[in-house]
Amino acid sequence: MKLVIFDLDDTLIDFASTRQVAYGCMADVLDREGIDSKAYLAACVGIDLDLFSRFTRGEITRAEYRDRRFSEPFAAMGLAAKLELVQQLNKLFMDCVNDTPLLYDDTRQVLERLRRQGVHTAILTNGPSDGQRRKLKATGLAEAVDHVAIGEELGFSKPSPQAFHSVVQRFAVANAEALMIGDHPELDYDAALGAGLDALLLDRDDRHLASGRRSIRTLGSVLMP
Ligand SMILES: [Mg+2]
Repeated sequence: MKLVIFDLDDTLIDFASTRQVAYGCMADVLDREGIDSKAYLAACVGIDLDLFSRFTRGEITRAEYRDRRFSEPFAAMGLAAKLELVQQLNKLFMDCVNDTPLLYDDTRQVLERLRRQGVHTAILTNGPSDGQRRKLKATGLAEAVDHVAIGEELGFSKPSPQAFHSVVQRFAVANAEALMIGDHPELDYDAALGAGLDALLLDRDDRHLASGRRSIRTLGSVLMP
């Protein structure tokens, strides 16, 4: 294996934990406004998932994604969304997830060791460019890998084969010599295999054990002995 390409959120960055911290800050604001923060934040999760998929498919703009992910939960609760409050929640959320993202314990060590072993490394992420750039700066991850590719900047996102090929083409390696590692079964694993790369599904909680995909529980499993 000459090149390892990592997904960013929920692969190198513990986005689930980071999001919980951000939701905690949002809950304080919502509670002060007399809004049931538990119900609001529960609604956020599903709404965000759907809108984010639509954003990565180019069906809605980044601005629309951001506005709707925090305004639609109000509608789901039968409440009118106040623009100022939606903007305040967005700022709180983004400052938290982009400027203080939490890394998994194994992230830095694995990137350092791959570099020492002479393996090229890259990050390929679908997230909105401005936020992903802030995360990369805050964590120093851009310097810890050889190349960073962001779907919104490339013009094509995972699962498009071009997203994977644009990364591989940066290095003097064949598609089959590149390994994609990510937490998403379809976007990271299936799509990479479809593009002619090798792939491992990062399944830290054994959520996809029954899927038959080749998986690892920790990033360290990719290191050579
Ligand atoms: Mg991910």
